[in-house]
Amino acid sequence: MTSFPDDTADLRLEIIETARALPRLGLTKGTSGNISARTKTGFLVTPSGTPYEDLSVDKIVAMDLEGCYRGDVLPSSEWRMHLDFYRAKPSCGAVVHCHSPRATALSCHRKGIPAFHYMVALAGGDRIECSDYARFGTRALSVAMIAALGDRNACLLANHGQVAGGPNLSKALSVAEGVEDLADQYLSALTLGEPIHLSTKEMIAILKKFKSYGKQTDELEPGQEAAFELPTRVG
Ligand code: 13P
Ligand code: ZN
Repeated sequence: MTSFPDDTADLRLEIIETARALPRLGLTKGTSGNISARTKTGFLVTPSGTPYEDLSVDKIVAMDLEGCYRGDVLPSSEWRMHLDFYRAKPSCGAVVHCHSPRATALSCHRKGIPAFHYMVALAGGDRIECSDYARFGTRALSVAMIAALGDRNACLLANHGQVAGGPNLSKALSVAEGVEDLADQYLSALTLGEPIHLSTKEMIAILKKFKSYGKQTDELEPGQEAAFELPTRVG
């Protein structure tokens, strides 16, 4: 079972740093988007309607997995999306929601990202779905998100943006960046018509390779194949 960190000032600072990376990376503007990290007792989430530069450790809100919060500051309006993400995905340690421009553009057409590029596997499946529409800050949006996530760790939110999860804050942020990159590439490819999709069989093979990608040979599990054909080691 995955173990999650305590609620500490360091973890709260890491949430603030991750939140501030969103506008820096062009993934969101203004007060759009929100970030959370799971803890031993629930999760920590950014406050509602607060500019990223005004965040401080005391404004990060602690919630439990029943949806109760502590302190004087209101949690993000999307607290339920974060809560339900954690409830649905026991190994998820962090969630990033943002209105990144290209993912949002696709979501306004209620269009997900198909297997036009093997990197869609970064969300853990052979496509990234777009949810049904529901108003921001509602239980209905969270229900739509869970349906669109399925067994993956990212989805688009209709006429809204995207949400991505990962084992920790840096990985969740990198999934959100990856989703935005894919949306950008897919929109470019669409200018010449619908691009060619990779087959389900090919995507199954890619998903298998992703399990060993980035691992050194001594880090592979017994019987696990390397992600690519290894050159001969002579030294
Ligand atoms: P919060 O400021 O309440 O987190 O809301 C931003 C947002 O993106 C709502 O979907
Ligand atoms: Zn939003």
